[in-house]
This record gives sequence, structure tokens and C-alpha cells, in this order.
Amino acid sequence: MISQTISDFTSLAIASGGWMEMDRVYLQNRILGLIGETEFEELEPHQSPEESTKLLDELIATAQKNQVIGDSLSEKEIFGAQLMDFLTPPPSVVNAFFAQFYAEDPKKATDYFYDLCKTNDYVKTRAIAKNIVFPVETEYGSLEITINLSKPEKDPKQIAMEKNTEQLDYPKCQLCMENEGYKGRSNFPARTNHRIIRMNLDGESWGFQYSPYAYYNEHCIVLSEEHRPMEITKQTFDRLLKIIEVLPHYFMGSNADLPIVGGSILSHDHYQGGRHTFAMDKAPIEFSFSLEKFPNVTAGIVKWPMSVIRLQAKNKEELARAAHEIFAKWAVYSDEQLDISAYSQDGILHHTVTPIARKKDDFFEMDIVLRDNNVSKEHPDGIFHPHKDVQHIKKENIGLIEVMGLAILPPRLKTELEEVEKYLLEEENEMASYHKEWADSIKMNHRLTKENVNEVVQKEVGQVFKRVLEDAGVFKRDEQGQAGFKRFIDTL
Ligand SMILES: [Zn+2]
Repeated sequence: MISQTISDFTSLAIASGGWMEMDRVYLQNRILGLIGETEFEELEPHQSPEESTKLLDELIATAQKNQVIGDSLSEKEIFGAQLMDFLTPPPSVVNAFFAQFYAEDPKKATDYFYDLCKTNDYVKTRAIAKNIVFPVETEYGSLEITINLSKPEKDPKQIAMEKNTEQLDYPKCQLCMENEGYKGRSNFPARTNHRIIRMNLDGESWGFQYSPYAYYNEHCIVLSEEHRPMEITKQTFDRLLKIIEVLPHYFMGSNADLPIVGGSILSHDHYQGGRHTFAMDKAPIEFSFSLEKFPNVTAGIVKWPMSVIRLQAKNKEELARAAHEIFAKWAVYSDEQLDISAYSQDGILHHTVTPIARKKDDFFEMDIVLRDNNVSKEHPDGIFHPHKDVQHIKKENIGLIEVMGLAILPPRLKTELEEVEKYLLEEENEMASYHKEWADSIKMNHRLTKENVNEVVQKEVGQVFKRVLEDAGVFKRDEQGQAGFKRFIDTL
């Protein structure tokens, strides 16, 4: 009964805090008009209405039946976001609620905002639930593997191209503030129900929002008000530390600011964080050292497949200075023996870092992951990028999230790995030829049955991901690489 759905949806709108009971008739009529219904029966709303997304589906189905919208995905998304806008107070009100909860407890503020973003279907909980997720134990701890079935991945060339292309369209990009309330179009996401929390970071205006396709709990994005390219500077470290001071229950990191080693969006300055503990957070220090200029900062090399320096201090200004110093030294550091060069012959800079900040009791902690985006004849996609023999699993950039031990693998692997399993069981299959070498080595090393084949393949995918991270590490885990890492440490 669509009248019941409208009544219940209206109750949720009022409960969201953007409307009052006095607005009920007005809201019902607005929804009625939007979905193209002409009749309405006044019904008592349910005390505990169904989930907002379920009600939304019914409203969208009615709109389709009434031929208000067609059945393309973007039409449904645009229409859905417009309906969910009723369940979302205006930005100023959401910001006021956030500030009010924040005064009590920062966790209450983020809980409020995250719940709002899930209830109004801005965070695509249902699409995220389609992802295949499993842990794999390794000597570096429990790596997390996600086969991403909620959103397509971009390849590094596309990402590099986007950095250099000026986009004249409105909104300039998907991370711009001007997305708040934006209707969307066939090739651009619907954002009528999107809200941004304003944040002041050392005199500059930034926005705080959640990621619609979260890869982990409370996956959030902090973005600059200005549409400007990603750039790691001293301020990056200052801002990351400031954000975790404001939200101490979140970690906050930045993607590197160069192609190949950066994230998927280099054209808009932003950071990513959230409420999740990654394998890298738990990885121990395996070699401690001190920084002469920063006596109150403890430093060490982390036991991790990539090259990570971990700093800790109570004073965040001192920590930011130490982190920036390491970045500045790395930016110009070369080690011919290890194929590490800061510049190529044309003078282009190849070194940067992926920094991650978190709060541990009274201490601020900063992990600095050393990155190098050089290419060579042998490794045209990147010397410190997944090498050819593992690209059948992952060839995309190793960005912030992967760096920390969470693999985001492309959707093609869902069906491809099913074919690999069939091949391993010697059943009829359509396994892609580029998986054959890997599959044959699995076959040689395991006694495979129908019962264990899925588990074995998952474990082996985890091993490949571990290799991917080792490929991305500038100082390898062998004796020669670790000696090189210490030579770099000696320059600090
Ligand atoms: Zn932008």
C-alpha cells in the first residue's frame, strides 16, 4: 500500500530532525507529487517503520510504474537521492547537530553523521555488502582482501591522464564541495542527499564527508574547499595530525601525490580516514633509531612489506616537523645499488610518501611510507608497482588503503577465480590464460578437493597481495635491501 509507505517515509523525514510534525501533510504531498501518484489515503504511520532503503525501493518502483522515471541506473539513483533528501536536514542543520554532539563526545558526532549517511542511502550499504571480503594470515599479520563488486576501479593511465586534464564541467570533480545537493547526471553521481561537515584546519576551510562506497568501517574523506591537486607538503603532516586531534578515534592518511603510487583522484587535495585498525597499525617496530634534531620523537622501521618509518611523540608540532624532514630527505635520496633514484634524467621528481596519522593514548603516531614511481625497461608500469607476474590479480595503483594491508581487487576476479577453482579441480572451465602459471603452481603445492579449493585459492590470493606489497616496497626485505634502508636512516 503506497499510502502507508509515504506515511512511514514521512515519519522518518520528521525523525531526521530537518522537519516538524506540522510539516507532515506538506511532506506527504511533496512525495506523492514526485512519484506521480494522485490519490492518498490518510493512514496511521507505523510506530517502527521499515528500513528507509526498503521504503525507498517501493517509492521508486511506484515512480517507475507511473512512468515518472525510466529504469536506467542513473535515473533511479538521481530520483532516489531526491527522495532521500527529505530524510536529510539541510547542511547548516546537519553541521549544527554535529557540533552539538561533538561538544559531548567526538564519537557521538561521527556516530550521528555516519548513521544519517547510511539511513539516507548516501553510504551505499547494500552495494558494499556485495563485496567479497576475507582475511589472509601472513608473517606481516592478517591482511584483508576485498573483491570490489560495488564500484569499478580505474587503471593508472586513466588516473594519470585525469591529473593533467582540466575539467571544465560542473562540479569540477567528485570531491568538490559543490557536490553537496547536486542532482547528478548520467555520468556523474547523484548527490541531492549529500552533506559535508565544515572543518577549519589552521585557518583553511575543509570538508568532512563519508565515502559512498566504503572499503572499511566509517571510511571518510577530508577535502579542501579549493579544487587543487594533491600535494604532500609540511602542511599535509600538520593537517593529518590536527584531524586526529579533533577525531582521536579515527586514523587519517594521505595518498601519495604522484601517479602510479598515488590514489585514484590526484586532481583534488584530500585525505582519507576512518574507524578501522589495519594490519599495518598492528605491525611492530623491528628496528628503533633516534633523530638527533628531534629528541622527543621516537622512530623505528616497521615490520612490513613496504618501507615504513613510524614516528611517535606527544607534541604534534615536533612530530610534524620530524615527518616533514624525513619526507624532504627522501624526496632527494638516491641509492644506485638498489635502483632507487630521486630524479630521472629529465629532472622529474620521483619520490614522495604515503603518510598515515593516528592517536594512541597521549601519543600522536605517524607512519611514513616511502614511495618511488620510477619506471624502467624491465618494469614499464613501475619499478615499485606490482610486477608483471602478479598483475593477473592486481595491476592498479597501490594507494593508501592497500599500503595499510587492505587489498581492493577488481570485480573481474569474482568470476575469474571461480574459473581458476574449476581448473584446479580439473573440471571444464574458461580460466583466463594469464592465471595458468599461478594456478599450476597452486596445483603442485596442494591436495585440492571440492571442499578446500575455495579456501586454498583465497589463501593464495593473499600471498599474491603480499607479493604486490613487497613489489611496492622501495627497500626490499632481504639483507641488501635492509642494509640500504639503514643507509637512508643514517642520513636523517
Ligand atoms: Zn574538486
